[in-house]
Amino acid sequence: MQNQTLIQYFHWYYNESANLWTKAKQEAANLATMGITGVWFPPAYKGSNGGYSIGYDTYDLFDLGEFDQKNSIATKYGNKEEYLSAINELHKNGLNVIADTIFNHKAGGDELEKIKVKKVNEDNRNEFISEEMEIEAWTKFTFAGRAGAHSDFIWDHRCFSGVDYAEDMKESAIYAIQNEYGEGWEEVPSSELGNYDYLMFDDIDFRNQAVREELKRWGKWYHETCNLDGFRLDAVKHISPEFIVEWIDFMKAECGKDFFIVAENWNIESVEELEKYIEITGGRTQLFDSLLHHNFYLASKAGKEYDLNCIFENTLAHRNPLLAVTFVDNHDSQPMQALESFIEFWFRPLAYSMILLREAGIPCVFYTDVYGAEYEDDGHKVELIGLAELPQLLKVREDLSYGEQRDYLDHNNCIGWTRAGDEEHPNSGVAVLMSNGDEGFKKMEIGKHFTGKIFIDILGKRNEEVIIDDEGWGEFFCEAGSVSVWVLKVD
Ligand code: CA
Repeated sequence: MQNQTLIQYFHWYYNESANLWTKAKQEAANLATMGITGVWFPPAYKGSNGGYSIGYDTYDLFDLGEFDQKNSIATKYGNKEEYLSAINELHKNGLNVIADTIFNHKAGGDELEKIKVKKVNEDNRNEFISEEMEIEAWTKFTFAGRAGAHSDFIWDHRCFSGVDYAEDMKESAIYAIQNEYGEGWEEVPSSELGNYDYLMFDDIDFRNQAVREELKRWGKWYHETCNLDGFRLDAVKHISPEFIVEWIDFMKAECGKDFFIVAENWNIESVEELEKYIEITGGRTQLFDSLLHHNFYLASKAGKEYDLNCIFENTLAHRNPLLAVTFVDNHDSQPMQALESFIEFWFRPLAYSMILLREAGIPCVFYTDVYGAEYEDDGHKVELIGLAELPQLLKVREDLSYGEQRDYLDHNNCIGWTRAGDEEHPNSGVAVLMSNGDEGFKKMEIGKHFTGKIFIDILGKRNEEVIIDDEGWGEFFCEAGSVSVWVLKVD
């Protein structure tokens, strides 16, 4: 079986001349050739800014660029027809499609409602700082432009637990909605800020059974309409985990498909938080390994001061490799974004080697590392360059990174590992050596089945030929602040 490799097929500032669905369709065959097996698309439904929304400000889950709502028919990424056509082409090329799914909130309500609320302390959401009061808020969603197509469900204040804006008072604050489901927040996985149920916009209240049913109906409709292979669940630490479990079980049973599910539970401090989430959801979802990303970030900033032996410590890849989706950067960590923590360029080949060429985790490649990007935000011009080493690293993952892994995490500045290869993949086996300090060398065992064989650095940074000795060991090399990837020399 081929190693799985995902790509996050967008970044926050996607601004190329072809819309994203069209570009993905054009690139489908190329992605398959590169060794990509699954594509994570951005939110495909209408956001509150119509054709300008990145997509995380969900307005109407049922509008996949089909209805004239929020001043446009298409979303930023194209219209429904183009979306379906891209999915079809990706499927034809053997790629899976993973849909971004935002359940925490909705934005851009159609009508005002008079609702009862209590203001809460922004730093401690469990503390009310006002008596019950009445405000006018945009909590009614009628989707007039869709006129009941696909679903006639109308959302109102009973579907939400909180809002952040009182229209009548022109006041921004966090207001807990007083409805039949309670005066406060739902139980959510994150206890940051007292209770982190509320994130932004109109926060969906999963205590309302009708809401849960509507979101299940939507999931089934979405799959039946688009033939999806998986879902990326946004912001799950702000969402009732019971609902997530209910939704996943419903989808798998109702659609008869074992969807690939990966959840975003952003955390850079405690791997225990991620482990806790796995426990309360019974291991139903993969999780993005934000802790490994954070270690990459620290290592890329610290240079040779960083102890490379520790790079996998307290990461999901280390603690629960089967459920880790590893990545180097994403749309939140890219320059100018809220969680900006972009890995320095010198370290990116090292980081990609660590997610692509080891056993642990399913790696997810970031769009800009393949295609580059140029954009401007807040007066800052940003230019990101595609990673020159990435195509070769992807090929080594697809063809050669199989079999037993032997680790050499035994030097602060120079670490390596080998993969022994397996019988299913001809010529497989690889030795990786990297340094964040001076040039390095290390004796590593790759297996006696390679005795007498020659290994070369496929990245071309070192020119030696390494001959494997009688015991199955070789001495491998790397440049300063660099990585070398040693593969069998084939005539
Ligand atoms: Ca929430």
